Amino acid sequence: MLDSALEILRLQNDGEATAVEIASAALDAIEASQPTINAFTHVDREVALAAAAVVDAKRAAGGKLGPLAGVPVAVKDVLCTHDMPTTCSSKMLKDFRPPYDAGVVERLRNSDAVIIGKTNMDEFAMGASTENSAFGVTRNPWNTDRIPGGSSGGAAACVAAGTVPLSLGTDTGGSIRQPAAMCGVTGLKPTYGRVSRYGLIAFASSLDQVGPIAWSVPDVALLLQTIAGFDRRDSTSLNLNISRYSDGLESADLTGMRIGLLRESMDRDGVDESVRQATLTAADVFRSLGAEIVEIDLPHNDYWVPTYYVIAPSEASSNLSRYDGAHYGHRASDISGDDELGPLVTTYCRSRAEGFGDEVKRRIMVGTYALSEGYADQYYSQALKVRRLIKGDYDTAFGQVDLLLGPVTPTPAFPLGEKVDDPIQMYLCDLFTVGANLAGVPAISLPAGLDASGLPVAVQLQAPVLEESRLLMAGAAFQTATDHHQRRPSATRH
Ligand code: GLN
Repeated sequence: MLDSALEILRLQNDGEATAVEIASAALDAIEASQPTINAFTHVDREVALAAAAVVDAKRAAGGKLGPLAGVPVAVKDVLCTHDMPTTCSSKMLKDFRPPYDAGVVERLRNSDAVIIGKTNMDEFAMGASTENSAFGVTRNPWNTDRIPGGSSGGAAACVAAGTVPLSLGTDTGGSIRQPAAMCGVTGLKPTYGRVSRYGLIAFASSLDQVGPIAWSVPDVALLLQTIAGFDRRDSTSLNLNISRYSDGLESADLTGMRIGLLRESMDRDGVDESVRQATLTAADVFRSLGAEIVEIDLPHNDYWVPTYYVIAPSEASSNLSRYDGAHYGHRASDISGDDELGPLVTTYCRSRAEGFGDEVKRRIMVGTYALSEGYADQYYSQALKVRRLIKGDYDTAFGQVDLLLGPVTPTPAFPLGEKVDDPIQMYLCDLFTVGANLAGVPAISLPAGLDASGLPVAVQLQAPVLEESRLLMAGAAFQTATDHHQRRPSATRH
């Protein structure tokens, strides 16, 4: 029941379950999985049940119900919620209770969804494994010795663990698609500007985007429909009509669609054979559905990771300067013994030293360096120029094909601890995902099978800006022809 939002809507419409019963089931499932999976940073049974009771009362009174009425939704802990803490999985914000809701949270509430809790993540969304959380690692429900991916590791794991049907993640360089891939669920990064970022705690503002995670494409479409659209409180929000994302998914027809297979990038060193095979098999599936597959290349792929790891830390170093212990965030209690700097600067330094974890500090240092006088031309400005070339590659590619098909991650989920001490190896996990963020295009991660040890592998489709519907159509057709999205982890796997 907790696998599908559409099924939960049907159960309530047919009088087979109430919103309170559904919320209770979700809360029980979370309680059972939390000691092993640790997908959540905050769950409040009372608040969730009260929200569900409001939906039931509305239904009983014959009131008009929103499109997600009574559906439990988990929210990544980087999105502001007025009635729950918002920590970014950082010690810096461990006591932060925002006075307002993020735009997307407001939309969830208006759609009568039941916000069940906040999900664990890499601190300030920086990471690819959810090991950089101040509140402990999240484990992969398919194998609890493995990472769930990141930074939205909790958001993907809570769906894969069967605790909620829908969750919201954020994606700056792959943080929706990569954990979705590693947890065997479906995740979509919308076009930059499609979904409001008001109340999303900023990591890298020119790249950040909020998006949906669920088992299957129709559920992803339903959640996207709820959160997409203009918000005047976000200056990067696009004031354009949105498509009806759920329409036509059942009868999606790919006849005549041209799909570019990113063959060269797939054949490079470090890409696991299971990932290569899954991508080739997916290409066959699309071919059998009537699409034409052509091999294509995004020539600057080698520069994606270096470009991203200059731009994202640069923006982060600026965005995170607000956490100084005076205006925002953790404040050091002991500022004694440093007379040279004086009390104010000592407060800044110690608060930041105590409040931020190692990876966040690393990004702040890299970003500050890349932006500093004398180096900005060499690093930040140079990265912006390369970003234009990368965007140009996408424009050229989309002049020839309707969609791009390739891997999401070079490998399936790796063991916990394997890359924590090796930032470069961790950054290379983003090899196939950061391009969509640098170019601002939408992309979806689709389950594409299991490897020999039973871990999920996935494929990625990327589309031109604002063509989320095309991604969903192709994804829905793929899921009609395959059953990868119907595989479930056995609860006690190790
Ligand atoms: N893994 C990437 C990083 O560490 C992406 C993070 C994200 O998308 N939030 O920056």
